[in-house]
Amino acid sequence: SFPAGMRGDHALIIPFTTSGHFIPLLDLTRHLVLRGLTVTVVATSDTLPLLSPLISDHPSSVKALVLPLCLEATSGWNDLTSCTRTAIRDLGTLHGPIRDWIAGHHSPPSVIISDMFSGWAHRLAQEVGIKSILFSPSGAMALSVIFSLWRDMPRPPPADMEDTAFAFPEIPNQPEYPWWQLSGLFRAHREGDPVSEFIKEAFLANIQSWGVVVNSFSELEGAYIDHLMKMVGHGRVWAVGPLLPVEPIVSSGQRGGISSILVEDLVSWLDSCGDRTVLYVCFGSQARLAEEQTAALASALEKSGVNFVWVVREDQPTKVALESFKDRVAGRGLVIRGWAPQLPILNHPAVDAFLTHCGWNSIMEALVAGVPMLAWPMGADQFVNATLIADQLKVARRVSEGASAIPDSDKLARAIREFINWEDCPERVRADVMRRAAADTMGHGGSSSENFDKMVKHARNKSYIL
Ligand code: UDP
Repeated sequence: SFPAGMRGDHALIIPFTTSGHFIPLLDLTRHLVLRGLTVTVVATSDTLPLLSPLISDHPSSVKALVLPLCLEATSGWNDLTSCTRTAIRDLGTLHGPIRDWIAGHHSPPSVIISDMFSGWAHRLAQEVGIKSILFSPSGAMALSVIFSLWRDMPRPPPADMEDTAFAFPEIPNQPEYPWWQLSGLFRAHREGDPVSEFIKEAFLANIQSWGVVVNSFSELEGAYIDHLMKMVGHGRVWAVGPLLPVEPIVSSGQRGGISSILVEDLVSWLDSCGDRTVLYVCFGSQARLAEEQTAALASALEKSGVNFVWVVREDQPTKVALESFKDRVAGRGLVIRGWAPQLPILNHPAVDAFLTHCGWNSIMEALVAGVPMLAWPMGADQFVNATLIADQLKVARRVSEGASAIPDSDKLARAIREFINWEDCPERVRADVMRRAAADTMGHGGSSSENFDKMVKHARNKSYIL
């Protein structure tokens, strides 16, 4: 337990188990600790190792609340939505044990900060009479769409009409998506089904949370942040991004996973390439390409003739002879099998562009590094993110679309060749503007840094009144 003097400065953090959710909330937690708060982070035996570096850096202000929970594998790539639904439901069983822990704690938290997939935590906070803040690992535009979906519950189209468009007229720029591009969690909803109803209720609780913290910044998503304020309440939405680890970027090879390559080896490989000659290819922590997709991508990379670093998940099926492929691209292509140290890669001067699935963290990390993107949105909030970066901000160019799309390797090779090391690439110019905006917003007097202070002030204050 914490020293008695810490009363009122204690936050309970409830993360979700997958990397894309856990990593940014852990970064936020580290910033909270640096602002003088003590934190308890809910962990399972699976997620505890991800938390260990934070605990060993701040042993007196960070504690883990490890609760027994047998999670079914959440990284199953063949049915991501079903795995996520199961994990959301399983994590929800912690409601009672956490409430008991709070009731029995001599200096209970003044606030719960919970991931978007742990919406039940807002009800829990109400039960014990403390504030709850929703942490969104998605951007403000994507969160606006997610909120609208769960609030309005548009009815699914007939089975053979997956292309039917769904519009969001109240959201700035009135985005519109075919049904198949809407959040898989939402599309999997079945009225009356207990898991579906639990997830729906959790999302509705998210909308009613006391406040919302978003990993974004006003220069990037100002209109959407304002829109969220209209939904949630003015002064109750804090854009505090880009959230990044506090320690120097190059030393953080272990962020969110154990790197499959020594950061020094990787850096010396990149050092051997010319500045701005390398394409970085990675589709986040969850997506796995099917064999035909891997083959098409390998062929495109080979035909493009450019340097590349390509991250291939360990459990991704590849009958494609990656070994002989590696021989054919020797000297200019590096395949990392497993987990890559993404931040050191994106921030290396050799890296010129990023072929990404448009996961929100990957986008934020690319913008911080000033790296333009080739967009291949696959699922979750990624189609919305692609609208923002490709169609609106124009820091990315679309090259493929959909989790099962097999890109034409000639076209993709051409798109890559044209994009890399192009002096006047407009996407790069705009990515550089965003890089500077991202640095400014986190600096002294920047909007994200001020929002963070405001959020901490409210989190510390036990009163409900703003
Ligand atoms: N990541 C990494 N190495 C990998 C794959 C992913 O460090 O090999 C990190 C990446 O830097 C980002 C997160 O994992 O912080 C992935 O989050 P994102 O939102 O981009 O995608 P998701 O995994 O949620 O689909």
